[in-house]
Amino acid sequence: MKVDVLTLFPEMFTLMKASIIGRAIERNLLELNVVNMRDFSKDKHKKVDDTIYGGGAGMLIKPDIVWDSYEAVKSEKAKVIYLSPQGKTLCQSKVESLAKEQHLILLCGHYEGIDQRVIDKIVDEEISIGDYILTGGELPAMVLIDSVSRYIDGVITEDSTLEESFSNGLLEYPQYTRPEVFQDMKIPEILQSGHHERIKEWRKQEAIRVTLEKRPDLLKNVNLSKQEKEYLEKLVKEENKTFQ
Ligand code: SAM
Repeated sequence: MKVDVLTLFPEMFTLMKASIIGRAIERNLLELNVVNMRDFSKDKHKKVDDTIYGGGAGMLIKPDIVWDSYEAVKSEKAKVIYLSPQGKTLCQSKVESLAKEQHLILLCGHYEGIDQRVIDKIVDEEISIGDYILTGGELPAMVLIDSVSRYIDGVITEDSTLEESFSNGLLEYPQYTRPEVFQDMKIPEILQSGHHERIKEWRKQEAIRVTLEKRPDLLKNVNLSKQEKEYLEKLVKEENKTFQ
């Protein structure tokens, strides 16, 4: 997958050189190109923003520098996403569908945002990372790149994505590593039984329990077997909880 990021603060993306995403870039599984929109300013002082027509606080990024940056990277297959608090909130199903795209162009606003005309002209979709306001679209763009990259073939093992929180509508079950006893706390016995079927069943039940405890809203849309539904109903009664 190719990702072009249009930003006024390219230095923020050095974070992407670390860890799993950094390795994905090194292995050419992800081509990340960070474009400094300031390079497209025709102004002798490299001005990129201006005051807002009609008045109001702050400055807006000028449409011409966004357009020229877009023209420099556009392709027929590109999907242009504006990271914006006004967009739909990013969720797991959106992450997985974006991972199937060949080319993403991520537009990062800053200051008060971007002149509406260029947004109307080039943007296919607006995506938010939550109902709060950040100073710029750079962190949201990195959140999007990180979450989407995990679903590009070869970036992490497929197994890692299969049972994770949200992948099957539930949160993930609790996990443990060595030592077997930590501050008098032992790991659940079943995990050392070697009985794969029973471990699988225990994990599913724990995933249901944890979801009921932390995110009961998710249980409204989850697919459970007859046995799993019975287990959930039992928990609901025992713990006097509700998710409807
Ligand atoms: N004036 C804008 C508004 O009220 O909708 C907010 C501008 S914000 C201060 C500056 C930039 O940060 C936006 O253009 C956008 O790119 C980015 N941004 C801020 N909050 C965001 C969020 N929750 N999700 C995605 N992008 C966000």
